[in-house]
Amino acid sequence: MQVADLNKIENPYLLLTPGPLSTTHRVKQQMLRDWCTWDKDYNQIVQQIRNQLVNLATDQPGYTATLMQGSGTFSVEATIGSVIPASGKLVVLVNGEYGRRIAQIANKLGISTLVIDSGELAAVDPQALAKVLQEDAQITHVAMVHCETTTGMLNPLKAIGEIAQEYDKVYIVDAMSSFGGMVIDMAELHIDFLISSANKCIQGVPGFGFILAKHSSMNSIAGLSRSVSLDLYDQWRCMEDNVGKWRFTSPTHVVRAFAEALKELDGEGGVVARQQRYGENQRTLVDGMQRLGFEPLLDAQLQSSIITSFHNPQHPNYNFNTFYEVLKGKGFVIYPGKVSQADCFRIGTIGDVWPSDIDRFIEAVETSMYWNDD
Ligand SMILES: *Cc1c(COP(=O)(O)O)cnc(C)c1O
Repeated sequence: MQVADLNKIENPYLLLTPGPLSTTHRVKQQMLRDWCTWDKDYNQIVQQIRNQLVNLATDQPGYTATLMQGSGTFSVEATIGSVIPASGKLVVLVNGEYGRRIAQIANKLGISTLVIDSGELAAVDPQALAKVLQEDAQITHVAMVHCETTTGMLNPLKAIGEIAQEYDKVYIVDAMSSFGGMVIDMAELHIDFLISSANKCIQGVPGFGFILAKHSSMNSIAGLSRSVSLDLYDQWRCMEDNVGKWRFTSPTHVVRAFAEALKELDGEGGVVARQQRYGENQRTLVDGMQRLGFEPLLDAQLQSSIITSFHNPQHPNYNFNTFYEVLKGKGFVIYPGKVSQADCFRIGTIGDVWPSDIDRFIEAVETSMYWNDD
């Protein structure tokens, strides 16, 4: 049987979502073997992954990767809870659900937190951050989401990094939905802690996240964690000292699949090639949807190639759930909206999704606009 046919049987529909994503047969196939977490065969895979992640994050020396069990939020919580000392203060730049989640985590952990909210339809404002940092000398850390998956908005990583650097603050970035799908050099961007997960642009399956930082940054956070299982320093120390060993049971099958996904990324031509493909997916999507009368939520210059929000049609016969079911029957799963100020749905353009799939999707949408039938 052809791999394409196998994929069709495994996946009756393509996920046009922000993660988990459609992955290849090749990635999923790696999960058929069982692994011992203690054995060096497995630990070598872990070490290789850690090195490859560092290479994706920067070409500067001195960086290290820590893998953490759980979904992406667990890695965000591990970072926020492990890098800010009791005497520290965090400022979070918010323009969507994932930015709010960082603030929620910090509040729950009793960390002194300030939020700068620019609303869901505007990029975060570097000048507003500069003003706050000027006025409040207590602030030690700055956190921001890179691609705010709520809308698909891209935040100004570089501008915020320059201000964090100027004021000598630790810069924490949730690059969950962009890392691996957009070129990011964390050294150049002055990012101190970068967080992402297995099941987004690297196109693995869900089960763990990872945190990238300098060795020196990791050494500086010993003993700060407010949690045992989410102690970023202890997790890192264990992986370092025991050459790729996780502290507690690790998602072995997911890790093996991730190693394959990294190979696939390399085979595609690396992050540059993947960024190009996602960009072409997204342009094909917006052109096709606009031709059918759908309007994107965001201005094009704020929009990422990861996920796009569209206004729901304002037709009395239109219902999102019906539209969703019709499209699912034709082999495509889309995503509901999450914006509180606008009535939207979302379409992701990441994963094992190619411009030809988007062409097929637009055809499917064209024949699914049941509300225009009478
Ligand atoms: C997916 C995502 C997360 C993590 O979500 P989980 O459901 O915990 O995996 C965090 N931040 C952003 C921006 C995301 O897109």
